[in-house]
Amino acid sequence: MSTAAYYRRVSAARALRETVQAAAHVAQLDSLLAALRNQHGAVILTYHSVARAESADYIDHTMRMTSAHFERQVALLARQRRVISLSEIVETLVGGKTPPRGSVAITFDDGYLDTLEVAAPVLGSLGLPAVVFLPTAYIDTGETHWLDALWNIFRTACRRVIMIDDQPVDCRRGAAVARAYAAYKAQLLSATPTERRAILCRLAAELRADPTTPRLTMTWKDVRQLASRYPRMAVGGHSRGHTDLAALPRALCVQEVTACRDDIKAATGKEPAFLSYPYNRTSAIAREAVAGAGFVAALSSADEFVVAQGCDLMNLPRIDASVSAALLGYLTSGAARRLSWRRGM
Ligand SMILES: [Zn+2]
Repeated sequence: MSTAAYYRRVSAARALRETVQAAAHVAQLDSLLAALRNQHGAVILTYHSVARAESADYIDHTMRMTSAHFERQVALLARQRRVISLSEIVETLVGGKTPPRGSVAITFDDGYLDTLEVAAPVLGSLGLPAVVFLPTAYIDTGETHWLDALWNIFRTACRRVIMIDDQPVDCRRGAAVARAYAAYKAQLLSATPTERRAILCRLAAELRADPTTPRLTMTWKDVRQLASRYPRMAVGGHSRGHTDLAALPRALCVQEVTACRDDIKAATGKEPAFLSYPYNRTSAIAREAVAGAGFVAALSSADEFVVAQGCDLMNLPRIDASVSAALLGYLTSGAARRLSWRRGM
Protein backbone atom coordinates (compact mmCIF):
# COMPACT_ATOMS: atom_id res chain seq x y z
CA MET A 1 0.00 0.00 0.00
CA SER A 2 1.28 3.48 -0.79
CA THR A 3 1.66 5.97 2.03
CA ALA A 4 -1.09 8.12 0.46
CA ALA A 5 -3.47 5.14 0.37
CA TYR A 6 -2.63 4.34 3.98
CA TYR A 7 -3.53 7.85 5.14
CA ARG A 8 -6.86 7.65 3.31
CA ARG A 9 -7.76 4.69 5.54
CA VAL A 10 -6.98 6.11 8.98
CA SER A 11 -8.78 8.76 11.01
CA ALA A 12 -7.74 12.43 10.90
CA ALA A 13 -6.57 12.30 14.56
CA ARG A 14 -4.44 9.26 13.89
CA ALA A 15 -3.04 10.74 10.69
CA LEU A 16 -2.07 13.92 12.59
CA ARG A 17 -0.45 11.98 15.42
CA GLU A 18 1.50 9.81 13.00
CA THR A 19 2.63 12.81 10.98
CA VAL A 20 4.04 14.33 14.18
CA GLN A 21 5.73 11.04 15.05
CA ALA A 22 7.25 10.72 11.57
CA ALA A 23 8.49 14.33 11.82
CA ALA A 24 9.98 13.54 15.24
CA HIS A 25 11.92 10.70 13.63
CA VAL A 26 13.17 12.90 10.77
CA ALA A 27 14.32 15.52 13.32
CA GLN A 28 15.97 12.72 15.35
CA LEU A 29 13.91 13.65 18.38
CA ASP A 30 12.67 10.07 18.77
CA SER A 31 16.08 8.75 19.88
CA LEU A 32 16.31 11.58 22.40
CA LEU A 33 12.82 10.76 23.72
CA ALA A 34 13.68 7.06 23.87
CA ALA A 35 16.84 7.78 25.87
CA LEU A 36 14.89 10.01 28.28
CA ARG A 37 12.25 7.32 28.77
CA ASN A 38 14.96 4.68 29.14
CA GLN A 39 12.63 2.19 27.56
CA HIS A 40 14.01 -1.05 26.18
CA GLY A 41 12.49 -3.93 24.24
CA ALA A 42 12.15 -5.23 20.69
CA VAL A 43 9.60 -4.50 17.98
CA ILE A 44 8.39 -7.30 15.69
CA LEU A 45 7.20 -6.17 12.24
CA THR A 46 4.61 -7.83 10.01
CA TYR A 47 4.86 -7.72 6.24
CA HIS A 48 2.67 -9.42 3.66
CA SER A 49 3.29 -8.89 -0.06
CA VAL A 50 6.18 -6.81 -1.38
CA ALA A 51 4.62 -6.72 -4.81
CA ARG A 52 6.21 -6.64 -8.23
CA ALA A 53 4.61 -4.01 -10.48
CA GLU A 54 3.10 -6.70 -12.74
CA SER A 55 1.32 -8.55 -9.91
CA ALA A 56 0.43 -5.63 -7.61
CA ASP A 57 -3.04 -5.13 -9.16
CA TYR A 58 -4.01 -8.68 -8.24
CA ILE A 59 -3.29 -8.27 -4.52
CA ASP A 60 -5.67 -6.63 -2.03
CA HIS A 61 -4.32 -3.10 -1.46
CA THR A 62 -4.04 -3.56 2.33
CA MET A 63 -1.78 -6.59 1.88
CA ARG A 64 0.94 -5.13 -0.30
CA MET A 65 3.66 -2.51 -0.47
CA THR A 66 5.96 -1.62 -3.35
CA SER A 67 9.53 -2.90 -3.48
CA ALA A 68 10.79 0.71 -3.41
CA HIS A 69 8.88 1.35 -0.17
CA PHE A 70 10.17 -1.90 1.34
CA GLU A 71 13.76 -1.05 0.36
CA ARG A 72 13.46 2.39 2.00
CA GLN A 73 12.22 0.82 5.22
CA VAL A 74 14.82 -1.93 5.29
CA ALA A 75 17.65 0.53 4.54
CA LEU A 76 16.50 2.63 7.51
CA LEU A 77 16.29 -0.43 9.79
CA ALA A 78 19.72 -1.69 8.69
CA ARG A 79 21.27 1.75 9.28
CA GLN A 80 19.57 2.85 12.47
CA ARG A 81 18.24 -0.27 14.24
CA ARG A 82 19.51 -3.63 15.37
CA VAL A 83 17.72 -6.15 13.15
CA ILE A 84 17.94 -9.52 14.89
CA SER A 85 16.33 -12.93 14.49
CA LEU A 86 13.12 -13.82 16.27
CA SER A 87 15.10 -16.67 17.88
CA GLU A 88 17.44 -14.14 19.48
CA ILE A 89 14.51 -12.19 20.90
CA VAL A 90 12.91 -15.35 22.30
CA GLU A 91 16.22 -16.57 23.79
CA THR A 92 16.66 -13.20 25.51
CA LEU A 93 13.13 -13.40 26.97
CA VAL A 94 13.61 -17.02 28.07
CA GLY A 95 16.83 -15.90 29.80
CA GLY A 96 14.73 -13.43 31.82
CA LYS A 97 16.06 -10.36 30.03
CA THR A 98 14.67 -7.63 27.78
CA PRO A 99 16.14 -7.07 24.29
CA PRO A 100 17.91 -3.71 24.02
CA ARG A 101 16.13 -0.65 22.64
CA GLY A 102 16.13 -0.52 18.84
CA SER A 103 15.98 -4.32 18.42
CA VAL A 104 13.74 -5.24 15.49
CA ALA A 105 12.62 -8.57 14.00
CA ILE A 106 11.11 -8.88 10.51
CA THR A 107 8.31 -11.33 9.65
CA PHE A 108 6.22 -12.12 6.56
CA ASP A 109 2.76 -13.68 6.61
CA ASP A 110 0.89 -15.72 4.01
CA GLY A 111 3.73 -17.11 1.84
CA TYR A 112 3.51 -14.71 -1.09
CA LEU A 113 5.76 -15.64 -4.00
CA ASP A 114 7.22 -12.13 -3.88
CA THR A 115 8.64 -12.91 -0.40
CA LEU A 116 11.07 -15.17 -2.28
CA GLU A 117 11.45 -13.11 -5.45
CA VAL A 118 11.46 -9.53 -4.12
CA ALA A 119 11.85 -9.28 -0.33
CA ALA A 120 14.37 -12.06 0.35
CA PRO A 121 17.02 -10.71 -2.10
CA VAL A 122 16.81 -7.27 -0.41
CA LEU A 123 17.22 -8.76 3.07
CA GLY A 124 19.84 -11.25 1.84
CA SER A 125 22.01 -8.48 0.37
CA LEU A 126 22.10 -6.85 3.81
CA GLY A 127 22.46 -10.12 5.72
CA LEU A 128 19.22 -9.51 7.65
CA PRO A 129 17.16 -12.34 9.19
CA ALA A 130 13.39 -12.86 8.96
CA VAL A 131 10.67 -15.43 9.56
CA VAL A 132 8.19 -16.41 6.84
CA PHE A 133 4.86 -17.72 8.18
CA LEU A 134 3.05 -20.17 5.90
CA PRO A 135 -0.63 -21.20 5.71
CA THR A 136 0.39 -24.64 4.49
CA ALA A 137 -2.75 -25.70 2.60
CA TYR A 138 -2.21 -22.73 0.27
CA ILE A 139 1.45 -23.69 -0.24
CA ASP A 140 0.42 -27.25 -1.22
CA THR A 141 -1.14 -25.87 -4.41
CA GLY A 142 0.19 -22.30 -4.72
CA GLU A 143 -3.47 -21.24 -4.48
CA THR A 144 -4.35 -17.54 -4.46
CA HIS A 145 -5.42 -16.33 -1.01
CA TRP A 146 -9.14 -15.94 -0.54
CA LEU A 147 -8.77 -12.22 0.16
CA ASP A 148 -6.93 -11.66 -3.13
CA ALA A 149 -9.51 -13.81 -4.93
CA LEU A 150 -12.23 -11.56 -3.49
CA TRP A 151 -10.25 -8.46 -4.49
CA ASN A 152 -10.02 -9.69 -8.08
CA ILE A 153 -13.71 -10.56 -8.27
CA PHE A 154 -14.65 -6.98 -7.31
CA ARG A 155 -11.88 -5.54 -9.51
CA THR A 156 -13.07 -7.33 -12.63
CA ALA A 157 -16.86 -7.29 -12.01
CA CYS A 158 -18.74 -6.72 -15.28
CA ARG A 159 -22.18 -6.18 -13.82
CA ARG A 160 -22.95 -2.64 -12.77
CA VAL A 161 -25.68 -3.36 -10.24
CA ILE A 162 -25.57 -6.53 -8.20
CA MET A 163 -27.71 -7.97 -5.44
CA ILE A 164 -25.94 -8.55 -2.16
CA ASP A 165 -28.07 -9.83 0.73
CA ASP A 166 -31.15 -8.97 -1.35
CA GLN A 167 -30.01 -5.34 -1.61
CA PRO A 168 -28.93 -3.73 -4.91
CA VAL A 169 -25.33 -2.48 -4.83
CA ASP A 170 -24.25 -0.04 -7.52
CA CYS A 171 -20.70 -0.96 -8.51
CA ARG A 172 -20.11 2.57 -9.81
CA ARG A 173 -20.47 3.96 -6.27
CA GLY A 174 -17.21 3.51 -4.35
CA ALA A 175 -18.68 3.66 -0.84
CA ALA A 176 -21.34 1.01 -1.57
CA VAL A 177 -18.77 -1.31 -3.12
CA ALA A 178 -16.41 -0.81 -0.17
CA ARG A 179 -19.23 -1.79 2.21
CA ALA A 180 -20.09 -4.89 0.17
CA TYR A 181 -16.40 -5.82 -0.03
CA ALA A 182 -16.02 -5.48 3.77
CA ALA A 183 -19.15 -7.60 4.35
CA TYR A 184 -17.82 -10.39 2.11
CA LYS A 185 -14.42 -10.16 3.76
CA ALA A 186 -16.01 -10.68 7.21
CA GLN A 187 -18.10 -13.59 5.93
CA LEU A 188 -15.12 -15.31 4.29
CA LEU A 189 -12.90 -14.81 7.31
CA SER A 190 -15.07 -17.03 9.47
CA ALA A 191 -15.87 -19.58 6.72
CA THR A 192 -14.20 -22.96 6.28
CA PRO A 193 -11.93 -23.42 3.20
CA THR A 194 -14.70 -25.37 1.40
CA GLU A 195 -17.30 -22.71 2.21
CA ARG A 196 -14.90 -20.00 1.03
CA ARG A 197 -14.46 -21.62 -2.37
CA ALA A 198 -18.24 -21.95 -2.79
CA ILE A 199 -18.91 -18.30 -1.79
CA LEU A 200 -16.19 -16.98 -4.12
CA CYS A 201 -17.39 -19.14 -7.00
CA ARG A 202 -20.98 -17.96 -6.57
CA LEU A 203 -19.95 -14.31 -6.30
CA ALA A 204 -17.69 -14.48 -9.38
CA ALA A 205 -20.60 -15.88 -11.41
CA GLU A 206 -23.04 -13.28 -10.08
CA LEU A 207 -20.71 -10.36 -10.82
CA ARG A 208 -19.58 -11.88 -14.13
CA ALA A 209 -16.03 -11.41 -12.88
CA ASP A 210 -12.77 -13.04 -13.87
CA PRO A 211 -10.99 -14.10 -10.68
CA THR A 212 -8.00 -15.57 -12.55
CA THR A 213 -4.63 -14.35 -11.26
CA PRO A 214 -1.03 -15.18 -11.99
CA ARG A 215 0.41 -17.40 -9.27
CA LEU A 216 0.85 -15.17 -6.20
CA THR A 217 1.66 -17.81 -3.55
CA MET A 218 4.80 -19.89 -3.07
CA THR A 219 4.75 -23.66 -3.54
CA TRP A 220 6.88 -26.01 -1.44
CA LYS A 221 9.54 -25.96 -4.15
CA ASP A 222 9.74 -22.18 -3.74
CA VAL A 223 9.87 -22.55 0.05
CA ARG A 224 12.79 -24.98 -0.18
CA GLN A 225 14.54 -22.58 -2.54
CA LEU A 226 13.97 -19.74 -0.06
CA ALA A 227 15.46 -21.80 2.77
CA SER A 228 18.51 -22.92 0.78
CA ARG A 229 19.28 -19.57 -0.89
CA TYR A 230 18.62 -17.44 2.17
CA PRO A 231 19.67 -19.36 5.29
CA ARG A 232 18.72 -16.43 7.54
CA MET A 233 15.05 -16.73 6.47
CA ALA A 234 13.33 -19.15 8.88
CA VAL A 235 10.04 -20.86 8.10
CA GLY A 236 7.18 -20.66 10.60
CA GLY A 237 3.53 -21.76 10.72
CA HIS A 238 0.41 -19.71 10.02
CA SER A 239 -2.18 -22.53 10.46
CA ARG A 240 -3.08 -24.96 7.67
CA GLY A 241 -6.12 -23.36 6.04
CA HIS A 242 -5.43 -19.71 7.06
CA THR A 243 -8.13 -20.21 9.64
CA ASP A 244 -9.21 -18.01 12.55
CA LEU A 245 -7.87 -20.26 15.33
CA ALA A 246 -9.69 -18.28 18.02
CA ALA A 247 -13.04 -19.27 16.48
CA LEU A 248 -12.36 -23.02 16.43
CA PRO A 249 -13.31 -25.65 18.99
CA ARG A 250 -10.31 -27.27 20.70
CA ALA A 251 -10.08 -30.44 18.55
CA LEU A 252 -10.15 -28.51 15.23
CA CYS A 253 -7.71 -25.92 16.54
CA VAL A 254 -5.23 -28.64 17.56
CA GLN A 255 -5.68 -30.26 14.14
CA GLU A 256 -5.00 -26.98 12.25
CA VAL A 257 -1.86 -26.29 14.25
CA THR A 258 -0.36 -29.78 14.27
CA ALA A 259 -1.11 -30.34 10.56
CA CYS A 260 0.63 -27.04 9.77
CA ARG A 261 3.67 -28.09 11.84
CA ASP A 262 3.78 -31.53 10.16
CA ASP A 263 3.45 -30.04 6.64
CA ILE A 264 6.45 -27.77 7.26
CA LYS A 265 8.54 -30.55 8.79
CA ALA A 266 7.73 -32.90 5.89
CA ALA A 267 8.62 -30.29 3.25
CA THR A 268 11.67 -28.67 4.82
CA GLY A 269 12.99 -31.33 7.20
CA LYS A 270 12.77 -28.86 10.09
CA GLU A 271 10.09 -28.48 12.72
CA PRO A 272 8.99 -24.83 12.83
CA ALA A 273 9.72 -23.00 16.09
CA PHE A 274 7.31 -20.09 15.56
CA LEU A 275 3.72 -19.50 14.52
CA SER A 276 1.77 -16.35 13.71
CA TYR A 277 -1.96 -16.42 14.41
CA PRO A 278 -4.01 -15.80 11.23
CA TYR A 279 -5.67 -12.37 11.39
CA ASN A 280 -3.74 -11.88 14.68
CA ARG A 281 -6.61 -13.64 16.46
CA THR A 282 -5.85 -15.84 19.41
CA SER A 283 -7.53 -17.44 22.43
CA ALA A 284 -6.56 -19.48 25.47
CA ILE A 285 -7.44 -22.64 23.52
CA ALA A 286 -5.35 -21.55 20.51
CA ARG A 287 -2.36 -20.72 22.72
CA GLU A 288 -2.59 -24.12 24.42
CA ALA A 289 -2.82 -25.87 21.05
CA VAL A 290 0.23 -24.01 19.73
CA ALA A 291 2.31 -24.70 22.85
CA GLY A 292 1.12 -28.33 22.83
CA ALA A 293 2.29 -28.74 19.22
CA GLY A 294 5.82 -27.78 20.31
CA PHE A 295 6.01 -24.23 18.96
CA VAL A 296 8.42 -22.12 21.03
CA ALA A 297 6.64 -18.79 20.50
CA ALA A 298 3.61 -17.39 18.69
CA LEU A 299 2.78 -13.90 17.44
CA SER A 300 -0.40 -11.84 17.41
CA SER A 301 -0.88 -8.10 17.79
CA ALA A 302 -1.57 -5.77 20.70
CA ASP A 303 -1.91 -2.10 21.42
CA GLU A 304 1.15 -2.31 23.66
CA PHE A 305 3.63 -3.61 21.11
CA VAL A 306 7.10 -3.51 22.66
CA VAL A 307 8.40 -7.03 23.39
CA ALA A 308 10.04 -7.14 26.80
CA GLN A 309 10.68 -9.44 29.74
CA GLY A 310 7.40 -10.83 31.08
CA CYS A 311 5.65 -11.04 27.67
CA ASP A 312 3.72 -14.27 27.08
CA LEU A 313 5.79 -16.30 24.58
CA MET A 314 2.56 -17.70 23.09
CA ASN A 315 1.21 -14.18 22.51
CA LEU A 316 4.06 -11.87 21.48
CA PRO A 317 2.79 -8.61 19.92
CA ARG A 318 3.68 -7.41 16.42
CA ILE A 319 2.89 -4.29 14.42
CA ASP A 320 1.95 -3.91 10.77
CA ALA A 321 4.85 -2.40 8.84
CA SER A 322 2.68 -0.82 6.12
CA VAL A 323 3.46 2.74 7.20
CA SER A 324 5.91 5.36 5.94
CA ALA A 325 9.61 4.71 6.53
CA ALA A 326 9.80 7.73 8.87
CA LEU A 327 6.87 6.50 10.98
CA LEU A 328 8.44 3.04 11.10
CA GLY A 329 11.61 4.75 12.31
CA TYR A 330 9.65 6.36 15.16
CA LEU A 331 7.80 3.16 16.12
CA THR A 332 11.05 1.17 16.31
CA SER A 333 13.06 3.86 18.10
CA GLY A 334 12.03 3.07 21.67
CA ALA A 335 10.11 6.36 21.95
CA ALA A 336 6.77 4.60 21.43
CA ARG A 337 5.23 1.84 23.47
CA ARG A 338 1.56 1.83 22.48
CA LEU A 339 -0.27 2.43 19.26
CA SER A 340 -3.26 4.10 20.92
CA TRP A 341 -3.19 7.90 21.18
CA ARG A 342 -5.32 8.21 24.35
CA ARG A 343 -3.47 5.58 26.31
CA GLY A 344 -0.13 7.28 25.76
CA MET A 345 2.80 6.43 23.54
ZN1 LIG B 1 -2.40 -14.34 7.12
